[in-house]
Amino acid sequence: MSDDPIDRDGLSPRFWERKPLSKMNAAEWEALCDGCGKCCLNKLEDEETGQVDLTRVACRLFDDATCRCAQYDTRHSFVPECIVLSPETLEQHAYWLPRTCAYRLLHLGRPLYDWHPLISGRAESVHEAGVSVRGMTVPEFEVDDDAWEDHIIDEPH
Ligand code: SF4
Ligand code: SF4
Repeated sequence: MSDDPIDRDGLSPRFWERKPLSKMNAAEWEALCDGCGKCCLNKLEDEETGQVDLTRVACRLFDDATCRCAQYDTRHSFVPECIVLSPETLEQHAYWLPRTCAYRLLHLGRPLYDWHPLISGRAESVHEAGVSVRGMTVPEFEVDDDAWEDHIIDEPH
């Protein structure tokens, strides 16, 4: 999988169908990310209704061309609020995670989609399926906070 920035080599076939999330090792856990980039978009949450709207305003570290975090390993030096998904924190974040997010799907007992790089064998398949946000974001430093609602989008899925 040479086009894949996430190392998915050497993993047991279909491990996600046989192992609960809480039993996965670090490599398996990281490999679940499909690279859609949707969790790097800013959301608007209505405190009264709980409704979460997605905007196309991306985190300042998001690289729109690669659909990746530009500083993933050191991101917390720049974006301390960036969440760390883990088996322990998944429950509290599941409500706002994108509908197609592999962590959310498995948390809900659902299968992964065929375009997931673990199944397709290619990182590009998430973009070809129209599920990612590559090429459709604006950086948050170009949009005032109070203008985010002008950039609300339907989740690509
Ligand atoms: S939404 Fe889920 S699958 Fe998509 S980039 Fe974020 S963590 Fe990965
Ligand atoms: S710091 Fe990186 S991983 Fe975290 S939201 Fe921003 S772009 Fe995404």
